[in-house]
Amino acid sequence: MPLSPQRAVDELKELRELTSDESGAQRLAWTDTWLRAREWFAKKLAELPVEHHYDSAGNNWATLRGASKKSLLIGGHLDSVPNGGWLDGSLNTLAALEVLRRFASEFNGRPPVTIRIVDWADEEGARFGRSLLGSSAFAGTHSISSDRARSDRSGIKLEDALRRCGVEIDRFAEAENERKDAAAYIELHIEQGPVLERLDLPLGVVLGTKGVERHIVTFHGQEAHSGSTPMSARRDALAAAAKLALEIRDIARRYPDAVCTVGSLKTFPGIATAVVGRCEATLDQRDLDPGILARMYRDAQEASHRFAEEEKCTVEWSRLWSIEPVPFHTELLALCEQAVREVSGSSHRLPSGPLHDAAEVSRAGIPTAMMFVQSLRGISHNKIEDTREDHLELSVTALDRLASKTVDWILR
Ligand SMILES: [Zn+2]
Repeated sequence: MPLSPQRAVDELKELRELTSDESGAQRLAWTDTWLRAREWFAKKLAELPVEHHYDSAGNNWATLRGASKKSLLIGGHLDSVPNGGWLDGSLNTLAALEVLRRFASEFNGRPPVTIRIVDWADEEGARFGRSLLGSSAFAGTHSISSDRARSDRSGIKLEDALRRCGVEIDRFAEAENERKDAAAYIELHIEQGPVLERLDLPLGVVLGTKGVERHIVTFHGQEAHSGSTPMSARRDALAAAAKLALEIRDIARRYPDAVCTVGSLKTFPGIATAVVGRCEATLDQRDLDPGILARMYRDAQEASHRFAEEEKCTVEWSRLWSIEPVPFHTELLALCEQAVREVSGSSHRLPSGPLHDAAEVSRAGIPTAMMFVQSLRGISHNKIEDTREDHLELSVTALDRLASKTVDWILR
């Protein structure tokens, strides 16, 4: 079977048919629809000369044994957010399947190195609020002891939802065994942003995933009657938070790829007739450069203190979550660039704002590269998520080229 990018696109449509409704994809991890997607995928794998198993964190592996034990891993995720799109995670998985088929047929079931494809469990974290669950188990960076207490909106515990799908939390860490002989990891993904579309390029090379600083910034002022308190006597916590929300835009604009977002503001007491006594703002800052990330964090802190003083308030910071930037492997990036150029004529390097399973794999020390294909309108996590079909086909071809180049690299 030669590579058939068209077949990958047809299978994406098949999967959409099977697991979407009028609101979009419903392959939420650990639900029946997700299991149905996995069953469908397993049937495709059964037609190939591969070993198929689920690891102890629920990651779904298909292994085509090669002459060398050294393995090239190609990853994706079949899970989606609720009302999600048809490509996020699925494109990578079905493109990986197509590349696996090509290796199996070209080398009569025995390629020079072992080829493994993986459908990571619960990349999105949409149900329990913990993204990259399966790949973090693989990488040994999971936080399952604190995550086990999580529950979904209907009160179902993470632990119970996983058990229903055959995953025992106490054996979660055994997924690390899958790292044995892993020599490289590659992943294709839709961009989920507008950069490639603006440049009119179908494909791009991902430099790495941006680091994230995520904090709650709480301003304390004085609750007071909105009728009787003169403007000059107010200690308005919202006023200070509002200044910060505007300032972080300037902080981000100092750097070409940086982003800063105040995504939530909560006011207390939160009524029309009181000056805001306390305001909680969330701040999310991202960049690929750890130095820039640290500077933006410091600048935002300084600004918050200045605004607190101007509004006669105080401010305190508490970290919600953070992750360091994860740059991908320089040599594999160069191979990715070659593959993209060969297939589409030109290439562009860009960082990824969203996190991906590839970041976890890279953190585990496995050389990693990632490729983006253009997203129409830059929209994702939405049923209108889309990519031109000719671009989808190009992306499958480019992933296949990258896979071959990476196999040669592993053998060198
Ligand atoms: Zn994804």
